[in-house]
Amino acid sequence: MSTQKATIGWIGLGHMGVPMVRNLIAAGYEVSVYNRTRSKGEALGCPVFASPAALARSVDIVITMVADDASQEAVLFGQEGVAEGLSAGKTVINMGTISPAASRDHAARLGALGAAVLDAPVSGSVKPATDGTLLILVGGDEAAVARCQPIFDVLGKRTFHFGEHGQGANAKLSINMMLGLSLQALAEAVVLGMKNGLDTDMLLDMIGDAAVASPIIAMKAPSVRAGSFPAAFPLKHMAKDFRLACESASAVGAAMPITRAATQTFADAVAADLGDTDIMGVLTQLRRDSGL
Ligand code: NAP
Repeated sequence: MSTQKATIGWIGLGHMGVPMVRNLIAAGYEVSVYNRTRSKGEALGCPVFASPAALARSVDIVITMVADDASQEAVLFGQEGVAEGLSAGKTVINMGTISPAASRDHAARLGALGAAVLDAPVSGSVKPATDGTLLILVGGDEAAVARCQPIFDVLGKRTFHFGEHGQGANAKLSINMMLGLSLQALAEAVVLGMKNGLDTDMLLDMIGDAAVASPIIAMKAPSVRAGSFPAAFPLKHMAKDFRLACESASAVGAAMPITRAATQTFADAVAADLGDTDIMGVLTQLRRDSGL
């Protein structure tokens, strides 16, 4: 490891955290981890800490990649949370998708402890996380962004600094509502085709060659063909992101009628126990709703 590199404490070893940590280790970073389920950290072969506070005490930069506002609050400010281990000069980066309001609130509370804070959620799922080709969407202080750029360059192919705290989180809501709408549109096209007796494989071939084709549709078409949706991006997280987008739209007065309808579909899918399937599992929900 180069002695020039900051030491990193990583919190959150889900679908995204594991490949991102592996890339940082491969790039020569000294990475230590904390995860609520400790065994996932042990499988990585790097130091595993017993609490976020202990981890924060021992590293320069803490990066969080946990599920949502509640889990972020727990790892930062819960008992033995990051806040208890922070001192001036440390940096905390959140790369998970949480609400812009929570991002701003956390930045203020951690900033009061002398830490530099960035919200840096990512666009891209497990494959880009594995390939180091995520898009990094950043809110926070310019100088902190510049210091963290080498880390972002390992994890992603491009960094967008959108402005102050919370603006990375806001950008993430915009890109993810488009993702969810794209895949619900694909699912609805497939269900309509099925109800009309069209061959699903041929329908997908047609969509793939048409002007509506897109990288995300190409990525998800094989799972539609197979009728199997193991999670890369868990559907429950898309449901959360739709909900956050609707809350933001209400707060700022943005009209998003299609997003509100899709938000209901995804909420229904979570209620029907599809939350741990992939986002493309929305097709299962629409098939059930269609009696298929
Ligand atoms: P995931 O596989 O569901 O993993 C969630 C992580 O959060 C796990 O490490 C989990 O710990 C931890 N966690 C959950 N509740 C917790 C709590 N109360 N206290 C402490 N830790 C808790 O999620 P993911 O797919 O990696 O996504 C992580 C974040 O990135 C989410 O905000 C998601 O929306 C966002 N994101 C995901 C993708 C994707 O394609 N998957 C892409 C872009 C952004 P345990 O291991 O103990 O359960």
